[in-house]
Amino acid sequence: MKRSELHQHNARQYINGRWETGATTGVRRNPSDTTEVVSEYARADRRQAERAVRAAADAFPAWSHSTAQRRADALDAIGSEILARQDELGLLVAREQGRPLPDAVAEAQRAGQLFKYFAGEALRAHGETLASARPGVQVDVTREAVGVVALVTPWSSPLAVPARKIAAALAFGNSVVFKPSERVPACGWMLAEIVSRAALPAGAFNLLMGSGRELGAALVEGSAVDAISFTGSGAVGARVTQAAAKRRARVQLETGGQNALVVMADAELERAVECAVQGAYACSGQRCTASSRLIVEAPIYDAFVARLRQRMAALRVGHALEKGVAVGPVIDDAQLARNLEWVRAAREEGAELVHGGEALERPSPGYYMSPALLLALPGHKAARAEVFGPVACVLQAQDYGHALALANDSTNGLCAGICTRSLAHATHFRRHARVGTTLVNLPTSAEDYHVPSGGRRAGGDGARAQGRQAAEFFTLLKTNYVQA
Ligand code: NAD
Repeated sequence: MKRSELHQHNARQYINGRWETGATTGVRRNPSDTTEVVSEYARADRRQAERAVRAAADAFPAWSHSTAQRRADALDAIGSEILARQDELGLLVAREQGRPLPDAVAEAQRAGQLFKYFAGEALRAHGETLASARPGVQVDVTREAVGVVALVTPWSSPLAVPARKIAAALAFGNSVVFKPSERVPACGWMLAEIVSRAALPAGAFNLLMGSGRELGAALVEGSAVDAISFTGSGAVGARVTQAAAKRRARVQLETGGQNALVVMADAELERAVECAVQGAYACSGQRCTASSRLIVEAPIYDAFVARLRQRMAALRVGHALEKGVAVGPVIDDAQLARNLEWVRAAREEGAELVHGGEALERPSPGYYMSPALLLALPGHKAARAEVFGPVACVLQAQDYGHALALANDSTNGLCAGICTRSLAHATHFRRHARVGTTLVNLPTSAEDYHVPSGGRRAGGDGARAQGRQAAEFFTLLKTNYVQA
């Protein structure tokens, strides 16, 4: 990568169709090389938040009644531009978030596909006509935009999660106030920059950057938004729900995972190991769908652990832009310290560390650690929490029933996978895993952009992002009677 391609971005707010500086600025550095500043970004204050919400409310009547064709064209243009610039966007994701470049480009591509998908959704009829119970009466059920929607997003999916929310909200005629995570402001800004050129009316889309504690809370608690779509940690999600309930604002929660991958004795060993490697350590384990619990049936346990350790030893940890790197840095120093603390505490509880779990030095200063594998017991804290780093626990199961019980022994219900050649076990698992997404012989990851995504219990409130089910959150139902 040529040094000249590594711009420092100057990321500003976008309010009522204009770019603005903030009350203060923040600086975001590259986690692969902390000497490199990726962006200097504007931080909005409460007053800017209020103005953005007001602008969105003013834009709402016209935007929500704009033609479906207009909304579809705007989203299609945004999707096309993202896809055309996916390498540039991917480079930014790799620099700002630390995800290895090929994965980062895939993240950008997914964001483009999401806009294209929702361009189509804007045009599809979302309503139904029913026969009335009474003679001469017609009844139909239509969907309408909700109003001003605040979109609060995490750093772990810096383009695709914002894209699915922005695209769905705009497709159905909502106006948007988007607050990306303060750890990936430049990704949020670049996405907003593309959206800003799609001929939307001023105020229909606004970008605010800043901390969650101040700006996020101001948006959720104090402002007049009609709905909040939140993706992030369970703890913050709980706070958002409480604040929204007070104002009777609608909430969509997509929160953490603590996902299980079950490996049955009849699984194809190489495939199961690959599922575990991808599921647990891709994106340094910083994915809501990461397999943090590998539940392995006793007869294959030793062979699986031995093969997984071999495979992990071959994983290259390094700078996100370096060719062949499988595991990039973690997001920041606080996350690195937390991950190492989880490993230390797990060992103190009696878990056996059989690979990694150490901070690493690389030619550039960054937040590197070797992926950790712990042989643990179901009660160990590291096997019950969302670590959100390259740390996985292996748990032994006596048989299929035990493995399923362990997989379901979690308050989070985002996703769960099974590796098996048994149709009976795969089918039973799909029906009985208490999660929002199941995977058979695949890594735990929700790749497809046109199907619903979401969790249950502490993994989310059940409202789905993506797919046609996104309409359920981003629209309100209206029942209309007419006497013919
Ligand atoms: P986080 O909860 O710390 O922050 C998420 C967003 O909320 C950020 O924009 C942050 O600024 C904002 N925020 C923080 N405090 C706030 C407050 N008091 N009021 C309003 N907003 C506030 O989460 P994170 O560390 O950015 O992301 C990681 C988490 O996200 C993990 O738990 C992961 O599982 C989850 N996640 C879930 C999904 C999913 O689809 N279920 C997808 C990606 C990430």
